[in-house]
Amino acid sequence: MLRLEDNILMVPLVGPSYAERLSILGIQSVKDLLFHFPSRTEDTGDIVSITELSTSENRRISCYIDRISNFRTRGRKYITTAVVSDSSGKIEVIWFNQPYLTKTLKKGSQAILYGKLNPKQKKAQLYSPLWEQTTGNNVTHLAKITPHYPLTEGISEKWLRSKISYLLSTHKYLLEQLTEDLPVNIRNEEDLIDISTAVSDAHFPKEEGKFEKAVERLAFDELLGIQKNLLKRKKTRELQTGPEISLDPKILSNFLSKIPFKPTIAQLRTITEIFSDMKKSFPANRMVQGDVGCGKTLVAAAVSLPVMKSGYQVAIVAPTGILAKQHFESFQEFYKENNWKIGLITGKTKASGIDKEYDLIIGTHAIFHRYENLINKLGLIIIDEQHRFGVKQRETLSKVLQKHKPHKITMTATPIPRSMALSLFGDQDISIIDEMPPGRKPTTTHVVPHSKRKDSFSWIEDKVAEGNQVFWICPLIEDSEIIRVKSATKQFEELSKSRLGKFNIKLLHGRKDDAEKNSIINSLLEKKTNILVSTSVIEVGIDIPDANIIVIEGAERFGLAQLHQLRGRVGRRKNKDSWCFLFPSKGASSEAKKRLEFFSKQDDGLKVAEYDLKRRGPGEVYGTKQSGIPNLKFASLLDLDLIKRTRRVAEKIMSK
Ligand code: ADP
Ligand code: MG
Repeated sequence: MLRLEDNILMVPLVGPSYAERLSILGIQSVKDLLFHFPSRTEDTGDIVSITELSTSENRRISCYIDRISNFRTRGRKYITTAVVSDSSGKIEVIWFNQPYLTKTLKKGSQAILYGKLNPKQKKAQLYSPLWEQTTGNNVTHLAKITPHYPLTEGISEKWLRSKISYLLSTHKYLLEQLTEDLPVNIRNEEDLIDISTAVSDAHFPKEEGKFEKAVERLAFDELLGIQKNLLKRKKTRELQTGPEISLDPKILSNFLSKIPFKPTIAQLRTITEIFSDMKKSFPANRMVQGDVGCGKTLVAAAVSLPVMKSGYQVAIVAPTGILAKQHFESFQEFYKENNWKIGLITGKTKASGIDKEYDLIIGTHAIFHRYENLINKLGLIIIDEQHRFGVKQRETLSKVLQKHKPHKITMTATPIPRSMALSLFGDQDISIIDEMPPGRKPTTTHVVPHSKRKDSFSWIEDKVAEGNQVFWICPLIEDSEIIRVKSATKQFEELSKSRLGKFNIKLLHGRKDDAEKNSIINSLLEKKTNILVSTSVIEVGIDIPDANIIVIEGAERFGLAQLHQLRGRVGRRKNKDSWCFLFPSKGASSEAKKRLEFFSKQDDGLKVAEYDLKRRGPGEVYGTKQSGIPNLKFASLLDLDLIKRTRRVAEKIMSK
């Protein structure tokens, strides 16, 4: 008797060399093999009679071999001819270079054939059909629903299909060894089949509709697993004790009366939501989502105040040094009437004696590395654009969080559909800032074909002469900083030689040191620089209020969500016009141009992201490596309906 956890070598006719090839597919145990599901299925249609075969589409017949033989052409190739029959009649069949056929499809044996008639022959002739020798009703390779599997070198589809079919038919008891995680009452309520049937039908569904039911069950399991984990994390957090913050309503009204603008309703609502988190006994974990420019920094400043007043430290972590510096300056401005001790910590800052006395620490992930010297009583951590942090950095962050258990807020301008938010961030609370400060005008976006590139240069020349500032973004060639620096440098040289060369052009990329970066940003703010050539480092958060033109080279290489972020760098001034020019590369496909056209007419960040999500999938849009998007075989992270169902069921199961 086989067991699920047995090594694959225990399966008859699987030797060491096959085992090695299977391991490339991630198959090591018997269970792995049963869980190696088809990547797609093909509907080969019902069995038809020989008289119903067609020249235009593949059809399936069940027949007997009346005669079969091989001969060789003058080119020494093998041709196999046969005559097969069913109750409706006879037909000739022809195959090429499969001389071994005569050994399997012997005269008198029964077979399923799947193919078309040869249109070049007057006489009806079935032309090189797929075949399977059968006995009775047993069909493996040419069943009505034929599974197609992910393969690897040295593993043929027929071989793999035979092995799985063999296990499922002659070792049926294996299916009973599978653990059923869903109690029967939940299966009934949710109209789901049991796990054993699901695994079997996901390979070889016997009837129409069975495959879909199997996939539904397996997809349900995938999403349920995710939801259970999220709820577990949420529950663990709710059992911890968070920093105790005293919330005097005067702190907020006082602060708001001193800033130069009126907060939007959405900003106020978000601040209130965070305050109510802080009233609870456990640490907050909230994500603030809001389009570029909606004013998340103000929210951060407002919610930090009561924390510091309660005697705790606040840490604000940004993905780049430039952004940290900008936050540092904004916060100094916001708090200019108080004497909070604010520290800026980037990779370059040296330790100072007062490190532990900071009320507010603003910086890059360098904060995590130095937290032992910096942090003594952390009450709140705010992380800007968390998905931009690498795996290592997130690990150090979680170490800090383990030790201090502060309230935690993450902020992101990346639009995330509700379905994805529920599966990726379902352990967090979410606030959405769905409103822009008044007076913002949408950015006029144009896709500029290569032939019009020159014309746009002279238009830009006029605009710059009038005092407008430009960001010039270089294509994302590869995810390598060195290559990006090269392409930005080339772009810089090209522009300097062009008619735009008479203006003050600067080059900014990740390889420049902090001092140089800061001096470039300052010269932009002081309007001494007219054009800034850069890589996508400026995509995150940077705020140059007077820049109102952005040019994006190789635009089709960017995800739309990222283009939207880039476009958000301009149009940040009240009642001021702004423009975004997308230059597709010379060889960009028409499909790619269509995508850009869609983008040029749409300024809702969520719609933009959803467009790409449907076509390119979450990994492409958000970056799989970075954002920890789970690898799902059956479920989709956009399936809101199923996600809600699994969340409900997870809550039910966990509340027991
Ligand atoms: P983001 O959400 O992208 O981080 P910021 O916080 O950088 O946006 O804000 C963008 C700009 O809008 C800043 O210059 C900020 O001063 C300004 N701003 C924020 N809130 C308001 C408001 N309620 N009214 C007017 N301007 C605002
Ligand atoms: Mg921001």
